[in-house]
Amino acid sequence: DDAGVPGRVRVAVRLRCRNAEEMVADADFADCVELQPELKRLKLRKNNWDAETYEFDEVLTEFASQKRVYEVVAKPVVESVLGGYNGTVMAYGQTGTGKTYTLGRLGEEDPATRGIMVRAMEHILADVSLETDSVTVCYLQLYMETIQDLLDPTNDNISIVEDPKTGDVSLPGATLVEIRDRQSFVELLKLGEAHRFAANTKLNTESSRSHAILMVHVKRSIEGRDMTHSGENGNNNHIIKALKPPIVRKGKLVVVDLAGSERIDKSGSEGHTLEEAKSINLSLSALGKCINALAEGSAHVPVRDSKLTRLLRDSFGGTARTSLVITIGPSPRHRGETASTIMFGQRAM
Ligand code: ADP
Ligand code: MG
Repeated sequence: DDAGVPGRVRVAVRLRCRNAEEMVADADFADCVELQPELKRLKLRKNNWDAETYEFDEVLTEFASQKRVYEVVAKPVVESVLGGYNGTVMAYGQTGTGKTYTLGRLGEEDPATRGIMVRAMEHILADVSLETDSVTVCYLQLYMETIQDLLDPTNDNISIVEDPKTGDVSLPGATLVEIRDRQSFVELLKLGEAHRFAANTKLNTESSRSHAILMVHVKRSIEGRDMTHSGENGNNNHIIKALKPPIVRKGKLVVVDLAGSERIDKSGSEGHTLEEAKSINLSLSALGKCINALAEGSAHVPVRDSKLTRLLRDSFGGTARTSLVITIGPSPRHRGETASTIMFGQRAM
């Protein structure tokens, strides 16, 4: 099992159960997919007698708990972030298939339903020591190639700065908030969500048309270790203790709730929708090209093609761990979108 192997994208597929509408409207029709979780396989039905089979790193059925999804999709990435590396967890899929449920669910009424963002923060806070380490977050929306600060709505055009030598990405001007406990993090996510809703209302758009991006910076100082060694002639009476200077170890976790992958031009909406469609297609296809390049072990990862991939530049490939969860629904009505989501996931492997 190569969970957390750097430079390779780990892909899980998650199926949500039928919603109330699908249970009624599609009652006479079979699901378009069939999962074989123990074989890590998914069958996409072509018709009543024929199906295509695909393999994934992990296959999560509609019965998979949020805890299990966290363990499979995010835990190895968070562990490597705690070890001082960067990492990315992304959800890709059609609107309504469970991206936000998987990543962003707060689970205040029922802790068992908490999603990856909250679980990752709990994991990080349990591992660091807040006297010497720091955990800071920023929360952004990327809409039409513009980065907006979800923690400060007046900050609506954040630029990306890349260090030409190291390739490190920074966002000068983005609000950074220090986190010390889970509840204040949950409050921050709620505030960000409220700002996102207000901004999107003003722009006359929906949150499914933009990417939500959470960044968690973990900075740890590794205590100067006791270096104990004995005297030259093996005489243990002269034990020398030397204190090493503290080392700072930095890791960054990026969680991306991607824009809906559906072809939105067919929805027939007017106005700037076509521009939105172009912009979403640009960023998702740029992302697709980058993860294909990683999957092929290509030396050239084309990060420059979109803001989304420029933003992720130091958080995938190289020593960074990347985990992608593709979310699908079972309804035969959306078989086409489901097939295209599955293909996106397959190309990442
Ligand atoms: P997306 O973010 O992909 O548009 P959502 O996460 O908003 O989709 O999910 C759409 C609806 O389906 C929501 O009402 C959500 O609560 C529900 N849902 C999604 N995934 C699950 C799941 N695994 N279990 C239960 N309900 C789910
Ligand atoms: Mg969503």
